[in-house]
Amino acid sequence: MGSEKNLKAVEEVRKLISIQSVTGNEKELAFYLEERFCSLGCRTDMFEAAPGRFNITAFFGGVESAKPGLLFHGHLDTVPAFKMQNPFIPEEIDGDIHGRGSVDQKGGIAAVIAAFEAVINSGATLEKPVAFIGVIDEESEHRGSMALKKMGIDADYAVVTEPTGLKLGIGCKGTAPIRIQVDGKAAHGCRPWLGINAIQIAMDIVRDILSEDLTECEIENIGTVKASWNLGKIEGGSAYNNVADSCSLWFDRRLVPGETQDQVKEQVSRIINNYRTESVQVTAEIARPDWNWEPIRERGLLPALTKSSSRIVDYMKKSHLKVENQGPLVFFTDGYQEMDFLVNDLGIESIQYGPGDSSLCHTVNEKLSISDLSRCTEVYMDLILSVCG
Ligand SMILES: [Zn+2]
Repeated sequence: MGSEKNLKAVEEVRKLISIQSVTGNEKELAFYLEERFCSLGCRTDMFEAAPGRFNITAFFGGVESAKPGLLFHGHLDTVPAFKMQNPFIPEEIDGDIHGRGSVDQKGGIAAVIAAFEAVINSGATLEKPVAFIGVIDEESEHRGSMALKKMGIDADYAVVTEPTGLKLGIGCKGTAPIRIQVDGKAAHGCRPWLGINAIQIAMDIVRDILSEDLTECEIENIGTVKASWNLGKIEGGSAYNNVADSCSLWFDRRLVPGETQDQVKEQVSRIINNYRTESVQVTAEIARPDWNWEPIRERGLLPALTKSSSRIVDYMKKSHLKVENQGPLVFFTDGYQEMDFLVNDLGIESIQYGPGDSSLCHTVNEKLSISDLSRCTEVYMDLILSVCG
């Protein structure tokens, strides 16, 4: 039965890749998944999380109105094809499936479908429902997961199905994208004393920000994790022989558990206040080039952590051990994950666990290991039976 189930997961991920779902264009995939889960006998629902863009939920087992014991979370959207060759024609080469979305993260969704199907076909009765939610817009403004609260989503535990190479993620950093704008006064470069050089002021601000102490957080069984600043982009000046009257700094500030976006904003305000004068304007705001939607700028993307003593961590360790004959590596990621919304908005103890190598996400060489996909399907199946059976 193992191999038949694995074949289903491979077939499934091929189908998912072939339905293009670049951010903003998730509709066709949402409708396909709704039909697919229906055909398995699941109860399904759609929710319009942004105009014409739908989250999809599927449930089976237990009593219909009961709170699910376990919720799988996956995102429907992918980044654009960029320079990828044949991004939407899945191709199998040397044990990998190539295609846009293969690893990020249609593999995780395919494993969920195949695991659901295997559990249903096994005839096992589930005491509690198991659920899947597919969300839109993970790669941009997170409108899909922002809607989870409004949708009334709840569960005892959740698994984010993003790729981890079958390692067990218990938490993630948050991210605060910050733009600092400095406005000075233009002048000819031969008489710089007549102007106010915005680039030079911006450089002082950068130095002050980068010399601040970084928040640290001690995570049980993992160690110390540290906040970080990255100055990703600078825009400013008009010509080498002009005094620059404007400079923008784009920072990516990563937050550790316990930190909030407001604390970071206060820290930045304190620094830039030292540079404000009657003739120098300095402003800071939460901003990202692809963010136009106010609610996400207000809420921010927060760090999340599930205690390593949580039962879901224990369940996952056991299911992984059964399939792999050894326990999983447990980690905390420097990256950001939507487990933020599950943990911080819904209060669900959540972990991250999925097939594939996350370093291939968004690359032109995006591919998914078939072996990972098969083993992940087995682990999910065992987890469903352990948590909900
Ligand atoms: Zn992803």
